[in-house]
Amino acid sequence: GRSMASEKDAALAPVPNDNPTIFDKIIKKEIPSTVVYEDEKVLAFRDINPQAPTHIVIIPKVKDGLTGLSKAEERHVEILGCLLYAAKVIAKQEGLEDGYRIVINDGPSGCQSVYHIHVHLLGGRQMNWPPG
Ligand code: IMP
Repeated sequence: GRSMASEKDAALAPVPNDNPTIFDKIIKKEIPSTVVYEDEKVLAFRDINPQAPTHIVIIPKVKDGLTGLSKAEERHVEILGCLLYAAKVIAKQEGLEDGYRIVINDGPSGCQSVYHIHVHLLGGRQMNWPPG
């Protein structure tokens, strides 16, 4: 098949919607992933296209309409907290003692390519600011 030229192309290609994504297949173990953390509500696995030595994607097991942060409602406050707290736990587990970067891409301008909310945990190298 045809491969995407860049992460940005991938982000600009889809019309944002609430359809099932590749992350549902990962949750159902229909496609393999390297899981680094799992609890009742949260799943975290290594990014297939890592942007740092440690690059982990942290997702809710139940999307509940939360395609991205911009779709968050009051009912999502708990899971949002769970995702961020899992990021902290995983960062420690990964030995990122010196620090790390947490990213949530939202919508086409935010370079979001998968419409199932996720937190990126990036570490193991010096991050820069501003981000690209
Ligand atoms: P977004 O660009 O913020 O939407 O992040 C989606 C991320 O999911 C990207 O960093 C992709 O590399 C990653 N990704 C997409 N498909 C898979 C997969 O099958 N396994 C692991 N990571 C994936």
